[in-house]
Amino acid sequence: MTRLWWARRDLRLDDNPALLSAQEDGPAAAIFAWTPALHFWSGRRRAHLARVLWSLREGTGGALAVRRASAADAVLGAARAADASVVWAAQEYTPSGVREQHEVAAALEADGRELQMIGSPYAVAPGRVRKGDGTPYRVFTPFRGAWREHGWRSPAGPADPESFVHLDPDPSDVDLDQIAAHGDAEDPLESPHEFREARVRESLEEFVDGDISAYVDERDRPDLDSTSHLSSALAFGLVHPRTVLALTGAVDHSAARTFESELSWREFHADTLWHEPQALRESLSTVVRDEDWATGPGADAAFVAWREGRTGFPLVDAGMRQLASTGWMHNRVRMVVASFLVKDLHLPWQRGADHFRRALLDYDHSQNQLNWQWVAGTGRDASPYFRVFNPDTQLSKFDPHRRYVQRWVPELDTPEYPAPIVDHKAERETALALNRRAKGREGR
Ligand SMILES: Cc1cc2nc3c(=O)[nH]c(=O)nc-3n(C[C@H](O)[C@H](O)[C@H](O)COP(=O)(O)OP(=O)(O)OC[C@H]3O[C@@H](n4cnc5c(N)ncnc54)[C@H](O)[C@@H]3O)c2cc1C
Repeated sequence: MTRLWWARRDLRLDDNPALLSAQEDGPAAAIFAWTPALHFWSGRRRAHLARVLWSLREGTGGALAVRRASAADAVLGAARAADASVVWAAQEYTPSGVREQHEVAAALEADGRELQMIGSPYAVAPGRVRKGDGTPYRVFTPFRGAWREHGWRSPAGPADPESFVHLDPDPSDVDLDQIAAHGDAEDPLESPHEFREARVRESLEEFVDGDISAYVDERDRPDLDSTSHLSSALAFGLVHPRTVLALTGAVDHSAARTFESELSWREFHADTLWHEPQALRESLSTVVRDEDWATGPGADAAFVAWREGRTGFPLVDAGMRQLASTGWMHNRVRMVVASFLVKDLHLPWQRGADHFRRALLDYDHSQNQLNWQWVAGTGRDASPYFRVFNPDTQLSKFDPHRRYVQRWVPELDTPEYPAPIVDHKAERETALALNRRAKGREGR
């Protein structure tokens, strides 16, 4: 009897325990559900996903079926067509991922079939690393220590590209070329992100063998571009963090440890969202009273200036334009633009996070929402609210030759460049006053 692999955020052949389990006793069928939720994705992300799936399908000899349906309907339909009594999939930990896997499990069970889950998009599954008393870590540094101590398995090895069963064509089969073309037309990017698993692996190896030594000193410099650019590959599961950690673990250089520490932030945020699913929309702590966030036409105009990179603060504008053009933004700059939105424009972090969701290719529920909460000061172990980034000081420190801002804001030193839309010093004071007011109320 055939088994079925339900591909989710693990769109790769290598180091994929769910796929290996499906192939254990012979050829497996493979299904990806193009669900209604994907209609809400930005064109750029849909185009990227279509390319990733196209490439993965090629790797399966054309066997991967991509069907327009809810996950439950697509998986059940494929399981019936393949006569599969067992479906294998990686476990998800976000609220929507958990809901989806419950629905799939229930649909399969009602049909006399079974969903087996193995693996996750993390080196250590969320919820696994806990304090001695069984409660979750709230502070990053001890979490990282316990996470390292817990450790992770070695990479699981490659799947057999020859060992797939083709499903018969179905009216719900998706035309990936058409989706990619529509997405590109609607929401173009300067250039596509890497969508082939083998190329991601090559560039990861190049990074670990070469650039990683510069990571400690240069990772905060957007002008030097010394980071790995692995985030969208991790978000779509083109590579598993266990594979990354196996490569960095072999490097005896402090930069490799720093890099691993960044990966453990990814695991910390996923762990936080698993324990606190409401963090997707709600602040985990209050820094400004709900009624004190800026609203109305002035706030909306400021938001648009921020979104379009027209605030008159070069580092903020460069970051927002890099995001619009490439679907990626340097981490230091993400922090600066996020701080600016919350603490200079007094807009709630959720507005910024929603824009990032549309514009980023590496968008990931837990990473985006919890990083926004970190900058806003509302998250677990967040940057304190009173720490307000000064966008001009950040510019001189991290882009000292102004190469990054000149690259993204060509009109920078011309009369066309707008004057600052706010007075940073004054807004900083306002932000602190709003915070005092919120704290005063909390204390009552
Ligand atoms: C407001 C804001 C929103 C963000 N939204 C996302 C998002 O939606 N998706 C996303 O993957 N990252 C997000 N990040 C984290 C970080 O900016 C990106 O992971 C990083 O810039 C990606 O570039 P890189 O792969 O070259 O990073 P590298 O520096 O090479 O880091 C390697 C990997 O470590 C992880 N990592 C690095 N920094 C962080 C961090 N601060 N938090 C969590 N993981 C980290 C990522 O998986 C990254 O790919 C956000 C950060 C901020 C401040």
